Amino acid sequence: MKYPKLTNFIEGKTIKTNGRYLDIYAPQTGQIISQVPLSSSKELDQAVTAARNALPEWAALPIKERVQIFYRYRSLLEKYKVELSELVVEENGKTLDEAIAEVDKSIEVTEFACSLPQLIPGEVEEVSKGVECRVDRRPVGVVASIAPFNFPNMVPHWTMPNAIALGNTMILKPSEQTPISANRIGELLQEAGLPDGVFNVVHGAQEVVEGICDHPGIDAISFVGSTHVAKIVYRRGTSNHKRVLALGGAKNHLIVLPDAHKIMTATNVAASMSGCCGQRCMAAATMLAVGEMDSIIDMLCEEARKIIPGQNLGAVITQAAKERIEGYITEAEQQGAKILVDGRGATVTGKENGFYVGPTVIDFVTTEMRIAQEEVFGPVLSIIRVKTIDEALKIENDSEYGNAAAVFTQSGAVAKYVMDRASAGMIGVNIGVPVPREPFSFGGWNESKFGVGDITGKSSIEFWTRLKKTTIKWNPDARTNWMS
Ligand code: NAD
Repeated sequence: MKYPKLTNFIEGKTIKTNGRYLDIYAPQTGQIISQVPLSSSKELDQAVTAARNALPEWAALPIKERVQIFYRYRSLLEKYKVELSELVVEENGKTLDEAIAEVDKSIEVTEFACSLPQLIPGEVEEVSKGVECRVDRRPVGVVASIAPFNFPNMVPHWTMPNAIALGNTMILKPSEQTPISANRIGELLQEAGLPDGVFNVVHGAQEVVEGICDHPGIDAISFVGSTHVAKIVYRRGTSNHKRVLALGGAKNHLIVLPDAHKIMTATNVAASMSGCCGQRCMAAATMLAVGEMDSIIDMLCEEARKIIPGQNLGAVITQAAKERIEGYITEAEQQGAKILVDGRGATVTGKENGFYVGPTVIDFVTTEMRIAQEEVFGPVLSIIRVKTIDEALKIENDSEYGNAAAVFTQSGAVAKYVMDRASAGMIGVNIGVPVPREPFSFGGWNESKFGVGDITGKSSIEFWTRLKKTTIKWNPDARTNWMS
């Protein structure tokens, strides 16, 4: 195996486990590269104890001191960018360029965390003669971050720098499919000077996630993954009186109008459906083609054919994912849809065991088809032809998800019409992947997110802190004693 068996990372130490292990595959080659422990509640207990022990001292530090760690950590992310990106390529299967963009985003959110002292000063006011009220932000406590497979470096950074800079201590539970990056993050935080126990990694799958939801020593949980599991974590965590923010899956619709700029639209839609092999929650899943659209669709197919597995397209996460994605394509074809670009059966010379699916464009999909309703999570674009913008909006609104939506048009008025009516948390105008950049926050609507607020940016400050309200009277002449 290319990498040694993984260990948990607790209190700054690598902790071996005696339980079961799961093989980790490199999706591009299909080779087993390491093994990940499936931790039990005993290992989780160890991490919670470490995080609880580290909490009082860490929370008591002034935030300006806490963020010094992240200034140093940011330099380390920059220094080791290529190594961290190569690790992402290895365990996730995306291309090196995509992995570098992922680490760049981790750097951006770390920079945001460094700016937190400027964003969270409290409030104070003299509310009565000689009496003042002040409000300041305190950490929530020990928090857990549960991550999916598709961004093994970036998603942990959506939560970790902000949560820790705001005074919390953390347990990260990465995806068991892409767990290697998490340990490296722990090592780099240690190198940056983070005290032991403030950040811990516990590996595993369902059992340890359920343990996190139930553990009385954990105060808040952030989750990113599928809607099915987001609902489980949200219900179970909140029923145990924890604060939970759970981001779920997506089915993003791009509404394309006849006046859209042709090349800009074709390149944006192709990049959105195929980037990270379609395995991102912001990927284009469905293009709602309003009116006459043949020339844009032709260009789009031309763009899609330039995307070559093993060159500018990575692999999907597992053989099972490849089979699932190809199954959706075949079923749509059997139901009457027309495959314009077919990515089934893709192989890469020299990497014959890799899990590749080529870019796929399917025309004449209808709303009743499973491919139009469910999250495919592969480089597949369904085109649904509609006559009017309102018909397109109805289809978008009817989706149970609501992560992102986009409109392609040259008309400001039409764009505004869609911006106001699309039922999604993140909207793009002539942009296929409308990820908000810091300080703007990331988070969807509907079944794409459960809980209040967003996971990054300014909105996340609410999630990672509690308000302490203090009323102060030092002046003995101040006679105020409130009765209610
Ligand atoms: P997943 O839901 O299968 O796994 C996410 C996490 O939950 C992992 O850590 C996993 O170990 C754990 N888990 C899996 N099954 C569980 C169960 N039954 N009980 C408890 N825990 C369980 O998601 P994934 O396949 O790793 O990631 C892909 C999904 O994540 C897609 O649906 C994608 O849209 C979504 N995603 C959403 C966002 C967003 O911002 N909304 C971002 C990235 C990924």
